[in-house]
Amino acid sequence: MKSRNEFDAPDLFTDLPEIGRQCELLPAPAPVERDYCAQSENGVAEILLDLPLRHVDRPFDYAVPQRFSDLREGMKVLVPFGARKVEGYVVKRKNTTANPGALKAVVKLRSSVPVLDGDILRLCESVSFTSMAPVADCLRLAVPARHARAEQRILSLPAPVFPQYEQEKTEKSDLPPRCSRDLVHLLPGSDYFAENISLLKQTLSAGRGILILTPTAGQADKIRRRLSLLLPEEPVTEYTAELGREERFLRYLSILRGRTRIVVGTRSAAWAPVKNIGLIIHFDDLHTAYTEQHSPYCDARDVLYARSGLQKCRYIICNLGPSTAGAYFARKSGGQIIDAPPAKRRSGLPQILAANSYLYEGSPWARMPDSVFSFVREGLTRGCVLVAVPHCGYLPMIACRQCRVGAKCEKCGGRLEMPAPDAALRCVRCAEQVRHFRCGECGCTSFRAVRIGSNRTAQELGRAFRGIPVILGHECAQSEIVGERKLIVAAVGSIPHAADGYSCAIVLDTNFMLNSATACGEEMFLRTLAKITPFVRTRENGGKMLLVGDLPDNLVRVFGRWNFSEWEDCRLRELSQLGFPPVLKWYELSGSRAELKEFLALLRLRLGAGETGADIPFEALLTGGRSELIKGLGIFGPQRAENGRYTLNIKISSSNASVPKKIRDAVTEIHLRIARCGIRIRRIKHL
Ligand SMILES: [Zn+2]
Ligand SMILES: [Zn+2]
Repeated sequence: MKSRNEFDAPDLFTDLPEIGRQCELLPAPAPVERDYCAQSENGVAEILLDLPLRHVDRPFDYAVPQRFSDLREGMKVLVPFGARKVEGYVVKRKNTTANPGALKAVVKLRSSVPVLDGDILRLCESVSFTSMAPVADCLRLAVPARHARAEQRILSLPAPVFPQYEQEKTEKSDLPPRCSRDLVHLLPGSDYFAENISLLKQTLSAGRGILILTPTAGQADKIRRRLSLLLPEEPVTEYTAELGREERFLRYLSILRGRTRIVVGTRSAAWAPVKNIGLIIHFDDLHTAYTEQHSPYCDARDVLYARSGLQKCRYIICNLGPSTAGAYFARKSGGQIIDAPPAKRRSGLPQILAANSYLYEGSPWARMPDSVFSFVREGLTRGCVLVAVPHCGYLPMIACRQCRVGAKCEKCGGRLEMPAPDAALRCVRCAEQVRHFRCGECGCTSFRAVRIGSNRTAQELGRAFRGIPVILGHECAQSEIVGERKLIVAAVGSIPHAADGYSCAIVLDTNFMLNSATACGEEMFLRTLAKITPFVRTRENGGKMLLVGDLPDNLVRVFGRWNFSEWEDCRLRELSQLGFPPVLKWYELSGSRAELKEFLALLRLRLGAGETGADIPFEALLTGGRSELIKGLGIFGPQRAENGRYTLNIKISSSNASVPKKIRDAVTEIHLRIARCGIRIRRIKHL
């Protein structure tokens, strides 16, 4: 908790400026559409500028000269804007304009074919709305950089011929397309496409397209190869960020022009303009690779969720392990959460055991209780054994022996680690070597290990099992382990594949994996464990998994039974009581004190004042006391950020659908009112 005098914005919520009253009294006249006498039919084009600025985040009217009379919607053009020329997309051709003066004319064509699909434009608008970002930011994700040669190549290709699939007509297939969202909990090693090939064929024979999303390009390639075996005549396009510029644009145009019906790709493929999309399959939706690191900061799941609603298609999230957001979507829109049948769960998983049922064997707080050693010994008689730890390295985290404060680099504040036995400490961020440790808090010169990495664990196990080869996972993560009686020690993210599966796996320090400052710690923990299971043999083949560490029994039970839907429902109830995301929408707002004050005043004008008066003391904020300053919003903060800026968290507690729109309008307006306004807003995924 920060001390009170760290906050030097005590008046942030009092004396909000009175603004906008005059505008309320004298509403601006509604723009009047007038006929525009142009040189050609539909001589006006509405153009969305490719400028990620909030105050130009709407289409502008431009005149279309005679020589561009075949200008079509979705084409890219160059137009004058102020003193410079900027690119933009034609979103509409029309005869009228609300602009009272003469219109500026389109200067140049930037593409000879349309590059933006109407459905994708609506998707961009929808995502920009929920993430409160300019539409141009979404358009940049959706439309790849243009390549002239790719444009020529696509025009010269012959029309594609698609195979026909014989499908029995079910009652369902006669119904009009509708949107549905389901969550599937996969079993390790299950072949989703072989089991659901009829669903794919049914979608294709109904004349609709399929989009499949995976976190990495390697997985996308695997799925493409699998599909080419299952549907040998069907062309499948892989669409990932790894492609070169020309190839990427070529594949983009080929998808846009309906030359391919199945697209497999990574994050950016969520925007791929698949024609008449009917089915979206999204693997491992919690993977960090799906999150945009820049504005609009959206997640592939947000994009696909919006897409399934706009384009009336089926959206299926497939996960090893739970997904609260996926479950929320499914429950909210009346979809299904599908667990594998219990008999399959029993046979398809390794046997799960928790070491705290072995407490009587030794000290409960030992990092490796005796059961670990007997487990390894027994497993080695049947094949290779995996020991998984949360961290790689030797001693990845150390702290002062006296005051227990984590050791930090003096130069950059990064975490210090010990890379090898008796080596000098090293900063993980700037690689600065620290020969003589001295605690920055108390001056003590000795330290202790807080976490133990895979290298140190391998060393300890090597001593206990002389004669057995001990292999470090990160040194051979890409290759396959062959042969018998090997002990593999790996961090959870770099487990190598064993040729016939590990006979048993031991997961150490599980209590550290569960340690998390966010509310989704348990979810991440279950997911991490679930991702280890495909490496281990199934129970039928003698596979076992031992979880070591002080774990709550209910989590072990959920994991052992693979009973994630029940856990998700329980979790959603908790989140809904707390009003946390994804049940309620949260946004993080940052800016200078003056900007935030003006913004809050604007919001209060648009949404109305809350129940709280203006005279509650600032201290009350620290306990969330100012949350009812504005009607329908919870406001939490402020917290001081860098460069004299502050951040506020805003929770939309009102169910009124117009509230997010009003907030977004207020963000646009504040950028119009204040030149070079530094207000930033982004969606909070989890707390
Ligand atoms: Zn200290
Ligand atoms: Zn450093």
